[in-house]
Amino acid sequence: MNLPNYIDAKKRTKESTVKELYKFNINSKNLGVGKTYFVKTYGCQMNEHDSENIRAMLEELQFTPCEVMEEADLVILNTCSIRENAHNKAFGMLGRLKHLKESKKDLVIGLCGCMAQEESVVKDIMEKHPYVDIVFGTHNIHELQDLLINRTKKQNIDVYSCEGKIYENISYKRESDIKAWVNIQYGCDKFCTYCIVPYTRGKQRSRKSAEIIKEVEELVKKGYKEVTLLGQNVNAYGKDLYSDYTLANLLSDVADTGIERLRFVTSHPWDFTDEMVDIIAKRDNIMPYIHLPLQSGSNKILKLMNRRYTKEEYLKLYKKLKDNIPNVSITTDIIVGFPGETREDFEETLDVVKKCKYDSAFTFIFSPREGTPATKMIDNVSLDEKNKRLYELNELVNKYANKANQRYLNKTTKVLIEGIGEKGNLFGYTDTMKLVNVKADKKYIGKIVDVKILESKTWSLDGEINE
Ligand code: SAM
Ligand code: SF4
Repeated sequence: MNLPNYIDAKKRTKESTVKELYKFNINSKNLGVGKTYFVKTYGCQMNEHDSENIRAMLEELQFTPCEVMEEADLVILNTCSIRENAHNKAFGMLGRLKHLKESKKDLVIGLCGCMAQEESVVKDIMEKHPYVDIVFGTHNIHELQDLLINRTKKQNIDVYSCEGKIYENISYKRESDIKAWVNIQYGCDKFCTYCIVPYTRGKQRSRKSAEIIKEVEELVKKGYKEVTLLGQNVNAYGKDLYSDYTLANLLSDVADTGIERLRFVTSHPWDFTDEMVDIIAKRDNIMPYIHLPLQSGSNKILKLMNRRYTKEEYLKLYKKLKDNIPNVSITTDIIVGFPGETREDFEETLDVVKKCKYDSAFTFIFSPREGTPATKMIDNVSLDEKNKRLYELNELVNKYANKANQRYLNKTTKVLIEGIGEKGNLFGYTDTMKLVNVKADKKYIGKIVDVKILESKTWSLDGEINE
């Protein structure tokens, strides 16, 4: 049994990352014959993408996917620990699975993802949730087969604290055959004081550009239209490879593969270079959409958060992006109620929102995460006040999101049609990442088409295809 331990996380060395070929040798081909599986994913695109890897592995072992959790023989929860409510949701689901197992003794329950990297969670699972059969972390997904084979009556827990590896040759069962995620970097070294990611996902490790380009070339050959390059802090891509090759170079080389739409998330304002701005502006297949988390507009709070930029520097970068990238849409993340945030600090945040008029924003109330420095800071803002600030912020964000969408009214824009949504309409996204619903034949799925926008709402647009 290996347990997580992240006391040493901040003492990371500059040792180079070790590349390993993915070791998924199928030892027990029949493990899943006649059995079904269900994977429930919480959290960000990284977790969604890891679940695509878990699904590929299970299907290589001959498990069959199952749409209904209650009917599956194996249920895996791929968890998130970014905020407390993500924890609560996963534990709520474990409660449901506990009842299910009472009537279905052979059910196998697995827990993985970021929560599995937390020492306190693993201890909790050991002490209070004995019905969970296997636990594995973000660094050893490839060991799922062994955990399933070696399952005994006891819990099988295997979580690594080591974090210096990159696995290549990973197989994925991608959710979509139109757009794909491609990891370019794992982990994060920024250590924002509120954030648990550097502990649960390990140190920043960039994949070699040749491996990334090869993966995208294969996706292009398979007919994929869109690729999103994934990392917690993609602008810092390559810094750990000790070469001059940066995200700007990578964007240029990946754009050369001929992929029709190229996106990347998430950008930390600190590492956004002029070369990146230039390449996004120049290349038609790099989409004019940037997620640029602000977190707070107060310099005092930004410093306490260890964000490494000031309000003024952020606004300068924002202006540069708007001035140089035609029609760019910019979204953000904002935290309210960080320890020590006064009304004046919060107003600084509102001021940035008023200046930037974001296309949209993800807004959160600060959630203390065990082991992060912010949990030790004095939190003197009442929950009532935090809720009021969140409400006020959301009103403002929604107003600008609505206005940003209105700009599309009666205009024709390119939309990549992805599938059939609610109410039987087709849905897709503009290059600027606006959700568009259209009533049209499903022959358009997978195509980039011209859509005339007839109605604009706060979070979506309705339109018709312009042949
Ligand atoms: N790497 C990205 C960045 O630098 O902004 C963000 C990654 S995180 C998965 C997504 C968002 O969750 C963050 O931008 C932040 O706004 C929010 N978040 C992270 N930790 C949080 C916490 N303890 N409480 C509230 N929100 C948090
Ligand atoms: Fe978390 Fe993003 Fe900061 Fe890294 S850069 S610590 S992932 S908020």
